[in-house]
Amino acid sequence: MLSGEMKISALPGVGPTLANKLAKLGIIKINQAINYYPFRYDDFSQQAKIEQLKLGDVVNFTGVVDIIDTKRSPRKRMYLTEAIINDGTGQLRLVWFNQPFLAKTIRAGDQLSVAGRVSQDALGLVITSPQYEKIYSDSAKTQHTSGLVPIYRTTSGITIKQLRAIIDQSLKSSVIKDWLPSEIIEAKKLWPLSLAIKTIHRPESLTDVSRARQRLAFDELLLLQLRGKLTRQAWAKEKAVKIDFKEDLTKQILAELPFKLTNDQKRAAWQVLQDMQKDYPMLRLLQGDVGSGKTAVAFIAAINVAAAGSQTAMLAPSEVLASQHFNSFFKAVGKYCTIGLLTRTQQYYSEKSGEITKISKAKLIAKINSGECQVVIGTQALLQDSISFNKLGLVIVDEQHRFGVEQRQLLLDKKELSTSQRLVPHFLSMTATPIPRSLALTLYGELNLSLIKEMPEGRLPVITKVVADEQRPAMYEFARQKIKQGEQVFIVCPLVEESEKLVAKSAKKEYERIIDQELSGYRVGLLHGKMSGADKQKIMDQFSQGKLDVLVATAVIELGVDIPGASIMIIESAERFGLAQLHQYRGRVGRRGQQAYCFLLSSQDNPSDNRRLTAMVKTYSGQELAQLDLAWRGPGELAGYEQSGFGELKLATIFDQELIILAKEVAEEIMNKDKWQTEVFASQIWQEVSNGLLPQ
Ligand code: ADP
Ligand code: MG
Repeated sequence: MLSGEMKISALPGVGPTLANKLAKLGIIKINQAINYYPFRYDDFSQQAKIEQLKLGDVVNFTGVVDIIDTKRSPRKRMYLTEAIINDGTGQLRLVWFNQPFLAKTIRAGDQLSVAGRVSQDALGLVITSPQYEKIYSDSAKTQHTSGLVPIYRTTSGITIKQLRAIIDQSLKSSVIKDWLPSEIIEAKKLWPLSLAIKTIHRPESLTDVSRARQRLAFDELLLLQLRGKLTRQAWAKEKAVKIDFKEDLTKQILAELPFKLTNDQKRAAWQVLQDMQKDYPMLRLLQGDVGSGKTAVAFIAAINVAAAGSQTAMLAPSEVLASQHFNSFFKAVGKYCTIGLLTRTQQYYSEKSGEITKISKAKLIAKINSGECQVVIGTQALLQDSISFNKLGLVIVDEQHRFGVEQRQLLLDKKELSTSQRLVPHFLSMTATPIPRSLALTLYGELNLSLIKEMPEGRLPVITKVVADEQRPAMYEFARQKIKQGEQVFIVCPLVEESEKLVAKSAKKEYERIIDQELSGYRVGLLHGKMSGADKQKIMDQFSQGKLDVLVATAVIELGVDIPGASIMIIESAERFGLAQLHQYRGRVGRRGQQAYCFLLSSQDNPSDNRRLTAMVKTYSGQELAQLDLAWRGPGELAGYEQSGFGELKLATIFDQELIILAKEVAEEIMNKDKWQTEVFASQIWQEVSNGLLPQ
C-alpha cells in the first residue's frame, strides 16, 4: 500500500514527464489524484447488439474489427480513419477524424468494446469519434466504454484514458481514512468517505453519484465552517490598528467623484469605517452584483487607512483588473495618497498629486516595504516573500473566490511589524457571487456582511436578444450605427484558437473574419489569455481610451472589467457559457447609464429553443440566473466551482441549502466536544486543508 501523502510518481508508470503534466492539473500527491473528481459522466450503461441499433442511441457493444483503414481527405486536409466492426448480429461503421495512429494500434481481428452515439450519413448508420478499448481476454473489465464513465478535465499531453488509469491506480493503492468520528457519520446518515470517493469516480448508478456527492460536498462545507469558526476565535484575540474615520477628507473625496454614492454604497462604506475604528480586526464580506460599485467602497476605506498612517493592500484576480483598479483609485483618490501597482509584468507608482510613472520592481518594493507607498494594488505577485510592508492596516481582496484561502492568508500574515505589539490588518473581501444573504451568513459565519443591492442611479437594464444566424447582418449594421455614435462593442468568443473538435467560434478567427468583413475599416482589437500581461494591458488601455471601437476577446474580460463607453456585448457560441458567466459579460456594458445591448449568438440550429439563452432574455437577476444554472444541470453533471463561483468548493454549491445548515450544525457539535475536536483536527484531511490557514 502507498500513502496518499506520497508523490504521484510513486505509482508505477508515472515518470517525471507525466508527473509534470499532472502537476498542471494540481495533482502532485496521490491524495490529489483521489480528490480529482469528474465533472460529469458518459452514460454507456445501455448495452446493445448491432442489429438492434437505431439512430440516436447512446450505447456500448463489443465486436471484432473486420477492416480498419486511414485515408487522407484532401479537401478538408484531415485524416479519416474508418473501421467496420462486427458483433455476430451485424456490422457497423466507425469513423474517427485526425487520429491516423489508430490504424496502427487497432488491427483487423482485434476485439473492441465501443461506445458512442449512433448517427447516420449517406452510407447508413455510423458512430463518429466513438470511445473504444481493446479487449484482451473475455473476463477483462472495460474501463472507458461501459457503464457510467467519468469525464475529467484534462490538459494537453494527458489523455482522459491515462488520467482514468492514474486515478484508478491511486484509489487501489491507498487506504482512505475517514476524518469524521463514526458517531457523526452514523447520526447524520452520511456515506463513509472511502465509499463516497470510490463511488464518485466509478459509480454504478446516478443515485449512487448523488449519495457520494452529498458526502463529499458536506465535507467541503464542514471544513469551511470549521475553518471559519477557528478563524473567528483566533482573530478575536488579535489586535488591529485602529483607523480613525476622517470625516472631512471622506466628504471631500465624495464631493469630487463624478457621481453620488448610492445609499447601499454609503451604508457599506460606513460599516467598513466603523469596523476599522475598533482595535480588533475587521472581517467583512462586501457583496454586490456586477456593476454595483464596490470599488468606491474600497477606495473610501483605503484613503482613511492612508490618512491614519497605515497601508492598504488590494489583491485582484488578474493583471487587467489590478491595473483597472489602480487607474480608478488614481482618479478618485490619487490627490490624497501614494499608490503603487505591482503585477508580474507591470509596476507603476503615483506620488500624492503626481502623475502615474513606470517604476522598477525593486524600487516599488522598497517603497512598499518602507511604507512610502500607501496603497498597493496587485495580483498574486503581491504575495512574494520580498514584500513585507511597513504598516499594513487593511487587506482588500476583490472577487475573493478566485483566490485560494492560502493566498489570502499569506497576505494576512504580512502583519504590521513596526510596533512592539503584533497587529493584524483589517480584512475586506469583495464578491459579485449572488449568494443569498441567509446562506452567506451560514456559509461564511466568520465574516460580517455588507450588501449593495441597488444599482447606481440611471442604470438601464441591458436589452438582451437571442440572435439567429440570418439576423447577423442586421446586428452588425446596428453595431456600426452605434459605433458611429461613439459607442464601443465587445465581442466575446469562447476559445482562442479554432480547434477541430469544437464548433465554437475562436476569438482569433472571429477577429480575422470580422476585420475583413462586417467591421472592415473599424478599429478592432484582439484580447486573449495567451497574450502577455503587457500586451493585454496595451489593448485594454486603447479600448478604454476609445482608441478602439471593437474588442474581440476570450474569457479574460469576464470579471470586473470596466469600460464605461461600451454599450454592445456580442457573445458568440453563447450556449457554451454558464448563465453566471453570461450575466458577468452582460454586466460589462451600459455602465455610463446609456442604453446597452447584449446579443447572444449560438452555433446551434435554433438558438431561441435554448432555455438558458431565453432565461438571459427574461431575467436580469444574477441570483436567479445562478440558481437556474444549477437547477438545469443534466443528470450526471456535477456542479463544479465554475457554476458556484467558489473556488474552494469542488462539489458543494452555494445553493446546497440543507447541506450548509447540516454542516453548520455538525461544526458546532465538533467544537463543543473535546474528543471530537481532537479527532477531527488530528486527521490528515484537516491538516491538509488547514495547513497555514490560521493566524497563529
Ligand atoms: P463592481 O461592483 O462590479 O466592482 P465597479 O466598482 O467597477 O463595480 O463600478 C462600476 C461602474 O459604476 C464604474 O464605472 C463606477 O465608476 C460606476 N459607479 C460606481 N458607483 C456609482 C454611482 N453611485 N453612480 C454612478 N456610477 C457609479
Ligand atoms: Mg469589481
